[in-house]
Amino acid sequence: MSALENISARPSFASFAPPSRTLMGPGPSDLAPRTLAALARPTIGHLDPAFVSMMDELKELLRYAFQTTNALTFPVSGPGSVGMETCFDNLVEPGDTVIVCRNGVFGGRMIENVQRAGGIAVIVDDTWGEPVDPQKVEDAFKANPQAKLLAFVHAETSTGARSDAQALAAIARRFGALTIVDAVTSLAGCELRVDDWGLDAVYSGSQKCLSCTPGLSPVTFSPAALARIQARKSKVQSWFMDLNLVLDYWNSAKRTYHHTAPINSLYGLHESLVQLAEEGIENAWARHARLHRMLRAGFEAMDLAFVVAEPWRLPQLNTVHIPADVNDADLRRQLLTDFNLEIGAGLGPLAGKVWRFGLMGHSCREGNILLCLEALATALT
Ligand code: PLP
Repeated sequence: MSALENISARPSFASFAPPSRTLMGPGPSDLAPRTLAALARPTIGHLDPAFVSMMDELKELLRYAFQTTNALTFPVSGPGSVGMETCFDNLVEPGDTVIVCRNGVFGGRMIENVQRAGGIAVIVDDTWGEPVDPQKVEDAFKANPQAKLLAFVHAETSTGARSDAQALAAIARRFGALTIVDAVTSLAGCELRVDDWGLDAVYSGSQKCLSCTPGLSPVTFSPAALARIQARKSKVQSWFMDLNLVLDYWNSAKRTYHHTAPINSLYGLHESLVQLAEEGIENAWARHARLHRMLRAGFEAMDLAFVVAEPWRLPQLNTVHIPADVNDADLRRQLLTDFNLEIGAGLGPLAGKVWRFGLMGHSCREGNILLCLEALATALT
């Protein structure tokens, strides 16, 4: 009789012991030992004064990572997708026109978010693997001067392409619109300057270049974005993501209970950000760029061709074409079984055609690149 047929059956399992992998896919990335240790510290209450001071440090550390002075900067409890919905649900009101750029999977999700929030999405399509074309965005604003928002992905994880966030935000500003920017893969992996570039609502993820556990989404909102949220005519449809409520816990002296914060995950994020601050954000960007060049040299020696043209290539997400005579799934399985190495498969139309190699945060180390090149060379010969 199976457990499903016998409710009184008592399950008996050993504690879960995950294998030790090297994570070089599109995220999650490897956690630094200091971050893992922080996660295992004793759980305290989410209203405990010690925890509350840690929250204040966390906001300061995130402002540094985002390069912003925005008061409204904090980690949303939930993965990057929740940060994404938080931005769209709070900034889009029913009937609003939003220009959305789609050059990969995640731009497509932004369209869904606009439509589910009752907005009208004007879609600007670009070829997967290419950056968003600023001229097309300019044309979309000319044709839709009523647009209130421009949404785009800074670092498109499905292809490895970076778009020019500064140029796109400047266009939106000229047309009096605010920006929603996906920085899930860009934060801490390549240049991102929220204030200098004039970005309004930016969300990221804890599991990519910050090298923390998945499940937290750092966000930051400019004063203009906050003013727009506070002036809404309609209630935010989601209770959990309504910033007007969440902020009583994260951004007010009252610290009113909203939901139970993911306490230990926040210890982990704090520790990741302390390490980032010790390294220095610009040094972190430089490390990703330098080690990307090392990985690229190895790929070139193996005749693996990049999907994205050099100027738009993300150092932290390297996408290459799979050679014609190689079986995608077999090779990835071999890397996992023989080398404990995880790399990423292609998504959507790129499934089966490309591999994605992440060099994110603590995974962006010379030792990882040497392992990866050795494993690939073995598997491909
Ligand atoms: N946006 C981008 C660019 C991403 O790469 C991802 C995840 O890979 C997400 C959003 C969604 O993040 P999550 O999987 O943490 O919900």
